Amino acid sequence: MGERKFSAFSTQAIHAGESREKYADSLTTPIFQTSTYTFKDSKEIEAYTKDNKLRFEYGRYGNPTEKIAEKRLAALEQAEDCVLFASGMMAITTTILALVHSGDHIIITDDCYKKTLEFCESYLKRFGIECTIVPFGNYELLEASIKENTCFIFSESPTNPYLNVFDLEKFSQIGRKHNVLTFIDSTFATPVNQRPLEFGIDLVMHSATKYLAGHNDILAGAVLGNKEQISRIRSLHKSMGGLIDANCAYLLLRGLKTFPLRVKQQNESTLELARYLQAHPKVEKVYYPFLESHPHYEIAKAQMAGGGGVTSFEIKGDLDAAKRFIDGMEMIYIAPSLGGVETLITHPALVSYYDYTREERYRLGIIDSLFRLAVGIEDTQDIIADLEKGFARI
Ligand SMILES: *Cc1c(COP(=O)(O)O)cnc(C)c1O
Repeated sequence: MGERKFSAFSTQAIHAGESREKYADSLTTPIFQTSTYTFKDSKEIEAYTKDNKLRFEYGRYGNPTEKIAEKRLAALEQAEDCVLFASGMMAITTTILALVHSGDHIIITDDCYKKTLEFCESYLKRFGIECTIVPFGNYELLEASIKENTCFIFSESPTNPYLNVFDLEKFSQIGRKHNVLTFIDSTFATPVNQRPLEFGIDLVMHSATKYLAGHNDILAGAVLGNKEQISRIRSLHKSMGGLIDANCAYLLLRGLKTFPLRVKQQNESTLELARYLQAHPKVEKVYYPFLESHPHYEIAKAQMAGGGGVTSFEIKGDLDAAKRFIDGMEMIYIAPSLGGVETLITHPALVSYYDYTREERYRLGIIDSLFRLAVGIEDTQDIIADLEKGFARI
């Protein structure tokens, strides 16, 4: 089918990956709700196996709705290829398993998504894969940690909840110099704000659950890179079976149509809210990469088009004050996750780190008065009005 190429970002978000002519003259991409695909006769089977398998065969190996979503994401990230998964964690774990062999060594920075760290540190160990965790931002130690058997280095930017920004150029140079793959979780940035491949990073991953789908209604993950790497990952993916289903792929395609608009709005609203919070008498500290006070402001401005839709802040007060603050929310939902149209607030100490002792949490910087605000696309005046209801209680 005649797939079209477009050069501009917002146009790609709407049209890339699909042909103008669709099944039954449908305008939107149909949901192909099928577990398998039929062959007319033996000749068609033979043509399929000879023809480099240029059609669909069985549901776990791919679905037309899913393929279109992969092509659209590849266009937005300007990657040669993309592989989609049922969740962000499925994307990370499948990719890592496709890359490593027992006896390998991997490096990950300490500010990564909690479940990613857990997988690398605890589960991979069982298979004889050694994992070094390096403090975020320590590029010298990162380079010094590379060994003969280092297979890849994994990092994230910006990170959760402090919005630390990693120097992608420096990162890719270290990887290239030592011939080690670099792998970045770019979920918080999205291709609106940063495209790691442009900095020479080898593999980029997104929890598409967040900004790409954007409506807090599905789970999905994506990994992007060159054809060779993605085909390695796709091959294991077919055995692991963590495929995104056709309905989810459709919702992702639909979400992507407004993705550039949403993220631009979220960039703008979040900067405004970060400034409001910074000026607030009941706020101790604000973290947002596009605030001059952020330690990585310079690098954020240099490598990102916008600061993204998440800001974290510490209120003046203890755990009790924090509970009273969050209980004041009437519009803003109290929930983990980010990147959707609804504004969400989370209290990391009570949610993501509930199973840590206070001492362990504080060592990681997860203090009692810390909140993460994942800004949606409501009018900022209403978000501020809600936060004020919380502030009035402390
Ligand atoms: C949510 C998230 C993940 C995990 O993605 P799921 O879709 O929830 O599996 C990984 N990395 C980051 C930065 C995330 O925010």
